[in-house]
Amino acid sequence: MPKVFINPGHAPGGKPDPGAVGPSGLRESDVAADVAAMVVEYLQAVGYDAISYQSNSLQAICDRANAWNADLFVSIHCNSFTSPTATGMEIWTSRGQTRADSLATYIIAQMAGEFPTLPVRGDWSDGDVDKEAGLYVLDNTIAPAVLVELAFISNPREEAILASIEGKRMFAAAIARGVTDYFSQ
Ligand SMILES: [Zn+2]
Repeated sequence: MPKVFINPGHAPGGKPDPGAVGPSGLRESDVAADVAAMVVEYLQAVGYDAISYQSNSLQAICDRANAWNADLFVSIHCNSFTSPTATGMEIWTSRGQTRADSLATYIIAQMAGEFPTLPVRGDWSDGDVDKEAGLYVLDNTIAPAVLVELAFISNPREEAILASIEGKRMFAAAIARGVTDYFSQ
């Protein structure tokens, strides 16, 4: 069965790096860890080999994913901005047309289905939804790799979704279904 490596962003327990922190104090590192654990549960329930690994060391993350021979790599983050009205979901891949673009399209389609009121912040200039950049974990993993920004933890309405068990389950289910869609394409 496919081997799917899930990386919750930032440091375990928020030490030393909690990532972004919402207006009510919700930490990105904790949301990402919770959602990643749920994605692993969903994927294992359908027979996939899935693990979650969070580390403050981006190199350690890439080394572990590569040594494990992951078939896919998914990093989970929350977005943040100075304006509390910034809103929506986005997904990143490395530059150029790769198999990760297809994975990104499946995942964001499932997320949009779960959260029809959250905008998709896409870059359609190259024909698909993913944004592209030279992010470390995307450029240094061998497997097709995406980085998901679930929603804006800096937006009070979206922070409330990210704080709730139901909201986290919906994000996790969408990511897991996007992964299984990729393998059944
Ligand atoms: Zn982050």
